[in-house]
Amino acid sequence: MRIHNFSAGPAALPEAVLKQAQDEQLDWQGVGASVMEISHRDKKFIDVAEAAESDLRDLMNIPANYKVLFLQGGATTQFAQVPMNIAAPEQTGDYVITGAWGQKAAKEAASLVKVNIAADPGNFPVDSFAKANTYIDVPDVDTWKLTKDAAYVHITPNETIHGVEMHSIPKLDAPIVADMSSNILSREINVADYGLIYAGAQKNIGPSGILVMIVRDDLLARQPRKIPAIFNYAKHAENGSMLNTPPTYAWYVAGLVFKWIKAQGGVAEIAKRNAAKAASLYSYIDSSDFYRNEVAVRARSRMNVPFFLPNSELDAAFLKGADGAKLMGLKGHRDVGGMRASIYNAVTQESVDALISYMKDFAAKA
Ligand code: PMP
Repeated sequence: MRIHNFSAGPAALPEAVLKQAQDEQLDWQGVGASVMEISHRDKKFIDVAEAAESDLRDLMNIPANYKVLFLQGGATTQFAQVPMNIAAPEQTGDYVITGAWGQKAAKEAASLVKVNIAADPGNFPVDSFAKANTYIDVPDVDTWKLTKDAAYVHITPNETIHGVEMHSIPKLDAPIVADMSSNILSREINVADYGLIYAGAQKNIGPSGILVMIVRDDLLARQPRKIPAIFNYAKHAENGSMLNTPPTYAWYVAGLVFKWIKAQGGVAEIAKRNAAKAASLYSYIDSSDFYRNEVAVRARSRMNVPFFLPNSELDAAFLKGADGAKLMGLKGHRDVGGMRASIYNAVTQESVDALISYMKDFAAKA
């Protein structure tokens, strides 16, 4: 039996995708070799890469004036690569910080551009989230201190550690750059609301090692400073994201996940399921006088649900029992403590129900 997987990332993948990858492992498409054993320049692999892009374009309705790139280095590399590609050193990048990942993005950018912290309930640069869970809401847009003529405004629509999600995206003058690592493809979005979207694969897309970027043509064309080709988005775009050897196996699995989402009924259907999964877990937590979630209701994440027991001395027993009940990955991030259930696209309602049932049993016995 497979375990109920609530890991924050790398995270659960759809079982059907894993089975298909398994079936095709030794002999992919009659080649007599695995897809990971062939050249990335082989026509058959180019077909995989192109199908992944076109399926993603369908799923997200990506307009023609946006390029789709498949890059390496994870979201962390983008914390640096974004300013390199779209802002000159004397320009300002505005950062709206709603948790630890946005904070890291701003810190990385600070050596490349002028960083303006437009909003930060955690009071950057103090690492206060380590002491108290200060990120529990998204500040109202009219409190954001945006810079006139900013090169971009960076946001993290879903903060994975704190379970804080932006449920609406404002219209701003500067292009919005969004780190969607933990909520891409979880809900319908309007790509045209953004200048640039990036997302590490290891939550809703596939294995770690590959990153999806969706970037508007005018941002690609900026070229504000001299940078090596390997960091240059435009060069990656010109070369079909194959300036060097890409992580071919991760790309192939991402392609299978895109086809799986299509087969489920697309992002609209997935979003419906995600809303139902999250609603069932939050409504149980809210109804219980044992567990609590501290995030403002308007900012609660549909992907990552942190929750606390009445005191942290119960945490070890909770996790031990969860292990016995085949519930994996529930330990909260060390900066926040408590528990966290990550309920990405591949996590089923059945797994969420199993978690709720275990939580009820534990609370009754504690
Ligand atoms: N941004 C967000 C929102 C994340 O959740 C993570 C990883 N959990 C990262 C960035 C960092 O990703 P990576 O480790 O792939 O660089």
